[in-house]
Amino acid sequence: MSDPFQNALAFLNEIRKDLKETDKSYLDRLLKPQHLIKGEIKLKGKKYKAFRSQHNNALGPYKGGIRFHENVTESEVKALSLWMSLKCSIAGIPYGGGKGGVVVDPKKLSGKELEELSREYIRLIAKHIGVNKDVPAPDVNTNPQIMAWMVDEYEKIVGHHEPGVITGKPIEIGGSKGRDKATGYGGVMAMKFLLEKLKVNSGKLRINSPISNFNSQFFNKPSSQITIAIQGFGNVGYFFAKIVSDEGFRVVSVSDSKGGIYVKEGLDPVATLECKNEKGKVADCYCVGGVCDLRNGNTISNDELLELDVDILVPSALENVITKDNAARIKAPIIIEMANGPTTKEAADILAKKGTIIVPDIFANSGGVTVSYLEWVQNRMGYYWEEEEVDGKLENLMKASFNTMWTRYLGLRENNKHASLREAAYIVAVERIIEAEKLRRP
Ligand code: GLU
Repeated sequence: MSDPFQNALAFLNEIRKDLKETDKSYLDRLLKPQHLIKGEIKLKGKKYKAFRSQHNNALGPYKGGIRFHENVTESEVKALSLWMSLKCSIAGIPYGGGKGGVVVDPKKLSGKELEELSREYIRLIAKHIGVNKDVPAPDVNTNPQIMAWMVDEYEKIVGHHEPGVITGKPIEIGGSKGRDKATGYGGVMAMKFLLEKLKVNSGKLRINSPISNFNSQFFNKPSSQITIAIQGFGNVGYFFAKIVSDEGFRVVSVSDSKGGIYVKEGLDPVATLECKNEKGKVADCYCVGGVCDLRNGNTISNDELLELDVDILVPSALENVITKDNAARIKAPIIIEMANGPTTKEAADILAKKGTIIVPDIFANSGGVTVSYLEWVQNRMGYYWEEEEVDGKLENLMKASFNTMWTRYLGLRENNKHASLREAAYIVAVERIIEAEKLRRP
């Protein structure tokens, strides 16, 4: 199923059976966004379609990033906004879900044009956003500088400072320490929580059953032998790679939209980023221990990366990369979904039968929005925390939501050995939204 919103609905409808009879009708409220703002941005004689989808605000203001990408569609923005509602809910932060997008290839714009596009986008949606209404943030191809232009434009319109209206800002104008690395850092935490549980619960999960991809060897490996392949080397993929390597795990492959590299003995993410920035792509950057040398590795395609024989696969780019066409060939027993929606419903079903454990996007990549929440809190109180304080709060929040998801997962597996962490996360997230819906609009 390649239509992103239909794919998101397929995951959502799967858990209808798990809800209380009296709750089922409330699920219907989540089947479409509450508001969809559509418009056009004119820039130098060209027109760019722009969207903001506000999915549900029962738990708090709409929250979610803005994406600049040539493949943005209305359906994609709607799907991403639905996932934001579920993500904020499972993360235990007081927000609903929203997402914005502009159909544009920002790499083809000059710096001045990018600024104009960002300001124009805010002029388009200004009356629909607000610190207590809808709080945008970065997403694919948008960054702190773009957030700075956006918040500046919003403040010009309303005539006063309002830093909490947008998160992911540069630190100098109200951003939070730790926000840049937060999504990758939270993803590494998610991975480590899972590895910890698998050791503890290995008997109960029957990970050595014939349907499973695991073998007992896996659990005797030191972290330096646990191999990781990461698709995507933007903010999320890079920080995941860097932090997980610093923790002693072995990142053997990373890629960007132009292709990837495979380095058997483990690559150096920092040197790889420097090399990418110099050459404009990751391919040909075979960097080990700060040295980039052709003899260190080889180039691979994005498709090959996904099918590598590694322990952990980390899709960190765009949606719909693991589909029914390649799911059977995915060898990694663990997938940490750092992108939003990288796995289609059909692929997830194939992988569940194989015993692959997927840490779902709505939990795995929730570190970003969680630190966005901490940024918003700091903006509202006008007092700013040190990075360790932010990191500690992120860890506490992620640990709590992981444990809630895990407990529900073990419960589901008592009746269905193919039950997934995604189902558990969706059930917890949806139940919380439904409780809020009932209190507000019974
Ligand atoms: N775009 C990120 C996401 O998909 C962050 C959203 C936010 O910080 O509001 O979760």
